[in-house]
This record gives sequence, C-alpha cells and structure tokens, in this order.
Amino acid sequence: MDIEGQRRSDNFEDRGQGSGSSRAGAALPIQLIFGLMRFLGWKGTLVVAAVVGAGYYLLPGSVKQQLFGGGGPGNDGQAGGSVCQMSPGNGKACDFSRVVLASTEDVWSAKFRAGELPRYGRVPTAYANPTLAVFAAAVSTGCGEATSAVGPFYCSADRTLYIDPGFYQVMERRLRAPGDFAQAYVIAHEVGHHVQHIIGAMQMGVRGETKNQLSVRVELQADCFAGVWGHTARASLAINDEDLKEAVNAAHAIGDDALGNQDATRYTHGTSEQRMRWFRRGFDSGDARQCDTFKRAEP
Ligand SMILES: [Zn+2]
Repeated sequence: MDIEGQRRSDNFEDRGQGSGSSRAGAALPIQLIFGLMRFLGWKGTLVVAAVVGAGYYLLPGSVKQQLFGGGGPGNDGQAGGSVCQMSPGNGKACDFSRVVLASTEDVWSAKFRAGELPRYGRVPTAYANPTLAVFAAAVSTGCGEATSAVGPFYCSADRTLYIDPGFYQVMERRLRAPGDFAQAYVIAHEVGHHVQHIIGAMQMGVRGETKNQLSVRVELQADCFAGVWGHTARASLAINDEDLKEAVNAAHAIGDDALGNQDATRYTHGTSEQRMRWFRRGFDSGDARQCDTFKRAEP
C-alpha cells in the first residue's frame, strides 16, 4: 500500500483523550461485572462484588485516593489533548485514516452515482460522506458514551465512525493481525456500515431469525463492502497481494469462533470462514450487488 500524494479527507475529527471519561469511568465497572457474570454466573458475581465492595468500604480514604484517583486529573470528564499528537504512531495512524477515508468517499460516491448497490427499497443517488472521529480511552457520541473496550464502531445517529488508534496495537499484538491494509479494512468495514445505513440494509429483517443471526448478516455485508472498496482502490493506493493477505488474516482473526466464542447462537459477526469469504467476495468482484447477505439462506 502506498498513500503518498493521496488526498486526505477533511471529514475527520480529533476528539481528544478521555472525553466524557467521568461517565465512562462508571461504564468500565459495569463492563467488568458483565464480564464476570459470563464466567461465574450471577451468583458467583454477587459474591465477588460483595467481597470487593466490602474491601473497598474498609480501605482508608488515603489508600482509595491512591488506588482509584478519585477527583484527580484526568478524571474530570474533560477532553484532554490531541489523540493524533499523543505519539508518532498515532500521528501516522491519523494521517493514514484520512487517506483511507478519502478513498472510500471517492469509491462510494461513484458506486451511488452508478446505482451499483444492492436494493432495499429506495437507493439515494448521492452518497453522503460520514465523519471519522479518533478518540482515546472514552468518547461521547450520538449513540451514547463509549470506551475503547468496545472496539471501532459506527454510530448512525451522528453518521460517524469512531476509532481509538490504540486498537491497531490490539490488532497487531493481541489478535496477530498486523499491517496497514488490515487497518484499512477496519476503517472500510465501518464505512460499510454507513453505506448500509444509507441504503436501508440496517433495517432489513429475515423471517424467523434472531437478533444475532441478523447481526451476522449485517456484519458480513460490511466485510463484503470493505472488500469492494479494496478492489476499487487497488490501483490508486497500490494495494498488492501482501496487503490482501493482511486483510484476509485480519478477517480470520476477528471471526467469532477465532475470538473464542464457542456458542454459535451467540455469534454476532460471523465465523472466520464467513468473514474471509465475504471480504474476498467483495474484493474479487468489486461489485457491491454481490454483497447481498440477506438473500441467502445461509450467509
Ligand atoms: Zn461491524
């Protein structure tokens, strides 16, 4: 991949570090509790919460202050500093994200003009660009407060994709999915959700299917749309076979089964095999009409 001399999108916002962190601070224990419940069941969680709660109550105030930093700096809910200027790595990620975003704007504007999209009711002829917001730790969005723990996401209420550049390190180290094109795939996938929002795919239902089964169809279509973008941007961004391997490897790494989920009824994004297959389908064809994951009995 080569991003030199490419257009940088201006639909980009640096939301700073820890915006809305005071409320997100409360979200973290809640996520922990849900995490514990998954492993211990609710009875076990109650016991653990009771023990931890009693321990906290018995601690002297000065120790609490040190351990939990109540009222200290960074805990006042103010957005602090620039995410892109936090580190050279972040600066690079921000610049890179703006190139990928600009490229998705070009690709999807052309697809909309040509009407090359799956049909779910009325398809608008003009593509409306989304915003890409980078944040660190926590962010306040049109869909509520969020922390980095949820990973990159798209909020349709404010038509914005939210990414903490720290996620790229998670991909590289924890998920073993390194590479710039793997990162581009993540951005293009979230843009895919924006496209779905515009064409009405988010509102699609399939008779007799659970919320999770529908979610898998939505996510696989976003993967396929990411592939369509990759196909179309191939020449302008010098995307080569190595890049393609990075994206397919990333699609494998974030499959529900690869992430350790053993209960197929709880899959929300699809298996590694499904995610790779739908990304490839988009990448090989470059045709978004091939991405109709709602049409098939089994995506
Ligand atoms: Zn998604």
